[in-house]
Amino acid sequence: MIHAYETSAQSLPGRHRVQLYRVTTPLWTCELMCLAANALTSYAAFAHRSVEEGGEHAAQHVVSCAELAKVCATYANQAVNVLSDLLPPDNNDEAGPGATPPASAPDPAAAASEVLAALTGCRLLPAVCSAVLRGCPSPDPALILQPGPDAELLRTSATCVNVAAMATGQALLRAHALSLRSGAVAVLLAAQLAHPDVVALQEALVERLCVHAGLQTEPPGAGGEREGACAGAEGTGRAEGGGSGAGAGGRGGGARAGAQGRARPQARAQAQARAQAGSRSNGRGRSTEGQGRWWLPELEARLGHVTGSPVKGEWRSLETGRWLIQQHDITVGCLEAQHRPVGGGAPPPGLARLVPRALEALCRLYRGQGLAGAYSPCPAWDFTAMPNVDRLVLVTRSAEAVAWALALNLEGLEARLEGRGSTRVHGEDEALRGTELAMTMLAHTSAEAPDGADAASTADVVAQLRRAGLAASLERTLRLAFTAADRAALSPHNLLHLPRIAQDTAKVTLLAPKALVLDTLPAELRREASAGVLVTFAKRVHMVTRRLQELGAEAERAAEGAAQAKARKQEKGLLAVVMRQLLPAFPEARELEELHSCVEARPGAPSLAPAGEVLAFTGRWRCLLTAQVLSRAAQGRLRVRPYRVLLFAAYHALDYLTLSCRPTEGHSSLTAPQLLALQPHRLIAAVCKLLCASAAVPKGGTAEAADAAEMLAEMALDVASTTAHVLAELGAHPELSDRVRAWLAPSASGSEEGGSGGAGSGGEGSSGAAGPALGAGEQGCLVMPLRVGLEARLQETHKGTCVAIQILLRAAAGGNDAGGPAAGGTATSGGGGGRGGSGDAAAAEAGAGSRFRSFAASLSESMRGGGYVLRAGGREAVFLTGVGLTSLPLPEQPFDDEQEPGGEAPPDVAALLAAPLPPPVTVPLAEAAFPGLRVCAYPGCLSYGGRSEAELPLKLCTGCKCVRYCGQACQKAHWREGHKAECRSC
Ligand SMILES: [Zn+2]
Ligand SMILES: [Zn+2]
Repeated sequence: MIHAYETSAQSLPGRHRVQLYRVTTPLWTCELMCLAANALTSYAAFAHRSVEEGGEHAAQHVVSCAELAKVCATYANQAVNVLSDLLPPDNNDEAGPGATPPASAPDPAAAASEVLAALTGCRLLPAVCSAVLRGCPSPDPALILQPGPDAELLRTSATCVNVAAMATGQALLRAHALSLRSGAVAVLLAAQLAHPDVVALQEALVERLCVHAGLQTEPPGAGGEREGACAGAEGTGRAEGGGSGAGAGGRGGGARAGAQGRARPQARAQAQARAQAGSRSNGRGRSTEGQGRWWLPELEARLGHVTGSPVKGEWRSLETGRWLIQQHDITVGCLEAQHRPVGGGAPPPGLARLVPRALEALCRLYRGQGLAGAYSPCPAWDFTAMPNVDRLVLVTRSAEAVAWALALNLEGLEARLEGRGSTRVHGEDEALRGTELAMTMLAHTSAEAPDGADAASTADVVAQLRRAGLAASLERTLRLAFTAADRAALSPHNLLHLPRIAQDTAKVTLLAPKALVLDTLPAELRREASAGVLVTFAKRVHMVTRRLQELGAEAERAAEGAAQAKARKQEKGLLAVVMRQLLPAFPEARELEELHSCVEARPGAPSLAPAGEVLAFTGRWRCLLTAQVLSRAAQGRLRVRPYRVLLFAAYHALDYLTLSCRPTEGHSSLTAPQLLALQPHRLIAAVCKLLCASAAVPKGGTAEAADAAEMLAEMALDVASTTAHVLAELGAHPELSDRVRAWLAPSASGSEEGGSGGAGSGGEGSSGAAGPALGAGEQGCLVMPLRVGLEARLQETHKGTCVAIQILLRAAAGGNDAGGPAAGGTATSGGGGGRGGSGDAAAAEAGAGSRFRSFAASLSESMRGGGYVLRAGGREAVFLTGVGLTSLPLPEQPFDDEQEPGGEAPPDVAALLAAPLPPPVTVPLAEAAFPGLRVCAYPGCLSYGGRSEAELPLKLCTGCKCVRYCGQACQKAHWREGHKAECRSC
């Protein structure tokens, strides 16, 4: 009858199941359910005795008991379903069309309370849980392996218990959902769900998941086994990883368990407690075999494969995959539900340990490291069919669990991108969202050990996160997100999903570099991840910078009209992407330095480059991208938040430049050619443009508008004073001073020989030789930007910075009209003044150069010491660091196109905004390249294969031996696009 009900109910929507209830009412009475519960318990006792006595029909009794358990579990499951059908629809419950039952139906509320009373009064659920776990005697594995009628019977027994476990799990999951309602339902069901046997079964289901994954579930420090699994999982992480690690993975687990046979030691207090609880509730002792542990997974571990098939007699069918996914999803669902017990009490103890293990197990199954049967040889196991995984991640507070969840989602994302493992076409966005969720949780999860972290427990956390491969996952997240974005952009089939994927990618790419500076994660881990994340990120920035340049050039080349509009539109789109996900993601220069103060390579990963090169590479692309974006974006009318992001980016790029000018504590300085390769004059010109750009500050006298305006003004002041500081530092640089003076001096006849005027007072006499000769358009290139963008705007508000800029401009100009009155105002300077007096032009030039340098030096000194510029008006730059994740996500469109920009802009401002950036300085490749860095040098490279850039088979260019390529295609493309000339000059 139960079977008939089950079959009919499966084909009916909820409304008709209420009708079905009417004809099956006798099934759902307390009497019958009590009968079932008692029968099951009694028969289990009988079967156990029969096995102990070794009677002739023992095997038959074992099977009968398992079959009875299966029937009772199905019964219990259907009872919960009936209850669910009868209860009025809940907001959280998808009751569907069953909202208004037909008039002929019994009163559902009364019926529901009867079924509820019966279900909870008879204690059928605990009885079934107990039977599944312990009540049904375990079949003898030795007999199962021998051919014969007994073996067939015992296999049937295992399969029945398997089905019973599944049905019970379903019942519990549904009961958890119902227990979230209010009133008697919640109270009575919660009491059932808190029963020790019910809790024990849910935990046992998780342990079975772990056994399937070839994972030991002993707590940390229980023995060498676990360490072995640790090494295996951390290694390459692929299918062979776990298997090779001390035999803990895959079939190895099963084989070893088989060898140990029945003597397997069980040292777990929890299991013992459960065994005691079991013997209490059972009222009699148990057979010694599998003491304290559910025999089904034990049996599976010994056999080395799962018994998952619902088909009688099938043991190793690949069909079981889908069935097991469903079962494990139920397991994960129950685990999640246990974390939020009804009434807000504490979740059962021991759960915290199970969540990371469950996620690790799923990850291993996904990688094909599980027991044979359903999991191999089909490693692309479809975990995205398990909606409960994401919910589980949401309730966990453990960084380890989140790290495993991240790894799991990345496996799924990679499989989707490679076209494995799913029949769904657009699976990328699901896996991306899961990845994004895990990354977000990572930012909000404390990695500190729970009980007031001492050194040992912190080391434990680090070991756990390392085992979960967190450092590698962070880099891989970026690589897969970029690949997903590129794939989506290139595929015409994906047009519908493009915005969605773009949005998810944006968040992921934003979060991965930010994770490097999250203080919720242990510094060791962040250090291990930093080189990979930064190199991958900077490679992407390289590509985007070049693309922006191309689009800008296209728009300028194109004739007015459609072609130009199209290029402009594309450019704006790319600018929006950059402002949303790249610029805000750059960790601050100071934070990175701190991270790199002692660099650690990721265990087992090939080294990417010396830390200094990684930082310099990242810093270079930060400056180049920032200059490009500021210059382009300043031409439009920016909304407030994007404007803030740009000011923020400008500030940090300038800050990086300042720090790199000379050795500072904790920061590695750059060589003069490396500094020039940052194209500081272009960055400064771009910053000046940004400060002139108009922001669409909300109009009206609201407090919000006033706040926004004040915030922008304060940030602009910080950016301006940092600009002055950079100029002073560069001007004081022994090798760059003359060049900077040329940038600041108006072009005049005879000033072309930028390299000739050696600074007499310089420490190293070779200053004039540094860098290539002054290019066309470099002379005086910063005069107009500084006068229009900074000086004019700062006169009213910020006299200190304004004076600093004036001093520098005047000192620079002094070189062209030596001894002229322009230099008169700078008499406060400390040294070098005397040498300008000689009549000789070259000597005058040298004197002016040294004067400029000493002005710059004293200016930079006063600024570096927290001098008047930074502190003027009591304003500090501190608040800039507060602009980060909290101000995200950005609006889709950074520009406010409603208002025509620059309508009232003065002519000099308009001219500055329209002017191109000064021409870049050409730095010889040999002096600018990063010889130790492993990254594809072609800016258009879209290859993000492998888990790390270091895994790409990079080849050195045989010509210059300075750059590497990931393949022929990238090398050829770069050769055509300009490496040809670079390479020969090397
Ligand atoms: Zn490449
Ligand atoms: Zn080359």
